[in-house]
Amino acid sequence: MAPIPQSNVDVLIVGAGPAGLMLALWLSRLGVVTRIIDKRTDKVFSGQADGLASLDKMTFSPTKLCFRFQARSLEILDSFGIGDRVWKEANQMFEVSFWNPNPDGRIQRNSRVSNNVAGLSRFTECVLHQGRMEKFFLDGIAASYPHPATPTHQIKVERMVIPTSLSIDETRVDDEDAYPLTITLQNLTEEEATPTQRLSNLSDGLFRSNLANDDIPQMIENSGGRKDVREEIIRAKYVVGCDGAHSWTRKNLGKDFEMHGEMTDYIWGVLDIVPITNFPDIRNRCMIHSESSGSLMIIPRENKMVRLYIQLTEVSPNGGRIDRSLITQEAIFKAAQKIISPYKLDYHYCDWWTAYQIGQRVGDKFDKLNRVFLAGDAVHTHSPKAGQGMNVSMQDTYNLGWKLGLVCKKVLRREVLSTYELERKQIAKELIAFDHKFSRLFSGRPAKDILDETGVSMEEFSNAFNMSHLFTSGLGVNYQPSPLVSKPAEHRIVKTDLEVKADQVAAYDSAQSTLYLAKNCIPGMRFPSFQVIAHSSAQHWQLHHKMPSDGRFRLVVFSGDISQPTRQSLVNDLGSWLSTDLLPKYPTIALSPGSEPHAGTMKFMPDRSPSIIDVLLIHTAKRSDVEMLRDLHHVYHPFDPKLGWDYDKVFVDEESYHHGNGRAYEGYGVDPEEGALVIVRPDGYVGLLASLERKGWEEVAKWFRGVLRTV
Ligand code: FAD
Repeated sequence: MAPIPQSNVDVLIVGAGPAGLMLALWLSRLGVVTRIIDKRTDKVFSGQADGLASLDKMTFSPTKLCFRFQARSLEILDSFGIGDRVWKEANQMFEVSFWNPNPDGRIQRNSRVSNNVAGLSRFTECVLHQGRMEKFFLDGIAASYPHPATPTHQIKVERMVIPTSLSIDETRVDDEDAYPLTITLQNLTEEEATPTQRLSNLSDGLFRSNLANDDIPQMIENSGGRKDVREEIIRAKYVVGCDGAHSWTRKNLGKDFEMHGEMTDYIWGVLDIVPITNFPDIRNRCMIHSESSGSLMIIPRENKMVRLYIQLTEVSPNGGRIDRSLITQEAIFKAAQKIISPYKLDYHYCDWWTAYQIGQRVGDKFDKLNRVFLAGDAVHTHSPKAGQGMNVSMQDTYNLGWKLGLVCKKVLRREVLSTYELERKQIAKELIAFDHKFSRLFSGRPAKDILDETGVSMEEFSNAFNMSHLFTSGLGVNYQPSPLVSKPAEHRIVKTDLEVKADQVAAYDSAQSTLYLAKNCIPGMRFPSFQVIAHSSAQHWQLHHKMPSDGRFRLVVFSGDISQPTRQSLVNDLGSWLSTDLLPKYPTIALSPGSEPHAGTMKFMPDRSPSIIDVLLIHTAKRSDVEMLRDLHHVYHPFDPKLGWDYDKVFVDEESYHHGNGRAYEGYGVDPEEGALVIVRPDGYVGLLASLERKGWEEVAKWFRGVLRTV
């Protein structure tokens, strides 16, 4: 018998859903040796739109899920250069309508409100199907290797592969150079990798539902008698289980990794159809509560489709046992017709349908020995209606990816990996609490009047909806104090509504800490983006566009008016200190060639920053009063012998020629008289606020000493 092949890899990712693909994207940008496997054949996701002949003018997606992209997810994808593709193709949702029963029991529109809070982000919620999302991720990963000197370890999803064993050599987990994890992989045949019902009915997505059983044991049993089973042994530094709700990785980590939570009696059906209807708000997001037939949510999609989430009251009458045989496409559709009546609803084309049972569960532990990590549905599950799952799952690995990558590159201290569980478990718990509340309000029976205590008051429901925006947009994430987030412990706030920001600013003000220096750059929250003007060219930019996800930390210098001699000399003294003292301790790493923003469309340009810390200067002087090369220290325009000066680091907060005034200082909450220094982590979250004066420099140095390894 031929020997089993063996190889080493820095990171093995199990599962190529949103969480796994986001991690692969990060690691491709950082040039980390990575493999990613998935049990499914890609035929599950692609190329099977044959049944659409009657509608052949439309291009439908052979999708399994449609995803609602929240504003923060779009910002993240944009930082990898793929956000604009989602934004252009997706259906953007601007309005939400609430429909409730009138005194005669007939549904009527109670209100229409904005689906997003203005001013939180340059993006708003939008919807796109999973197939396109996966394509953009795969293109983004491929774009990380555009140069002829492409690394041999280019990341590609290896499909129809499962892990069958995982062991950890605990004596070697603290050795940075060791590969303490051993994993056996096994290939599957096309048939083994295709969910059973998918073979017979293409639009049936029940295999993807939490009502379906885990199919891994069956896959292993089916492949047991096969002569051509191929095995492979991998030794890895890190394994990340992104393998969904039935996570094999989690189950292999033992009892400490069980999920806790509960299932409810609420069963919901999902239909993706092109509706034929006289319901007036079909192209709006709608929340419909009928008098006694359950609730319905409408999510307008691309290509004239809509997604309907339909409460199924008849499969578990009076909250009793679910009769799964009653869950059919027809039954789900009939339930929808009943809820929306007296309006008519019909369809010719159904793209996909499924059903699920609402439940909320979260794992106790997100990592084992900082060597095996769990992310996404593998460690938290909840109902899909609030559109959070893909977003939170992707954001888990957005949080983990740069940390793992920079530890593999020996830039970041290994202890920092502990912040993954600290930061993401908190978010998972907030998500579960939010989902619990939202699901109860949406699945509950509408109250008949104010004396009806068991029914849901529609005022309570729409208030909860309005208050939830900051959380559901992903922009309310507020990580706790840690080496990566410098703020007083008492400001650990875990609320999930709009009051958060106001509360925090007030709390920080009263604490008289440095946090007043940039009131809207709250440590632990994402650094916002405002329009600024390039000093060198007068071009307007969103500042986020100058902060791509390339593994660098950013030191943003809010200098105020640098045409004033005293301020200019302070900023230049800071420049000397940075270039002689701080930055040489943390030199640049060999990032993957595609790390430039918008790598897919831009020609390859090597990075010129001398350090892993990128310095950006935002000032308020008149552009004509300052000559960048003459007046400013070279740290603000680094020189490369082959490429000349870098003109992309100095920006002004002033009116643009054609795009108005970004009022960035106002947006960031910085007083130009005072100025500020802000450390932004590679994932865009604020790490530290410090004074522009010398006392702030030591704070900055201390923060970096706590997280980075020196040369
Ligand atoms: P998954 O997407 O489940 O991906 C896991 C991957 O791992 C899969 O590709 C699987 O094939 C693979 N895998 C599993 N086990 C193994 C193994 N042993 N070996 C190898 N590979 C393995 N979320 C939103 O944000 N917005 C929405 O609008 C939304 N709508 C939804 C609608 C429905 C009907 C459902 C069911 C979910 C919805 N969700 C939505 C939730 C969302 O789909 C999940 O939260 C999200 O997909 C989780 O991503 P993940 O990468 O963690 O896991």
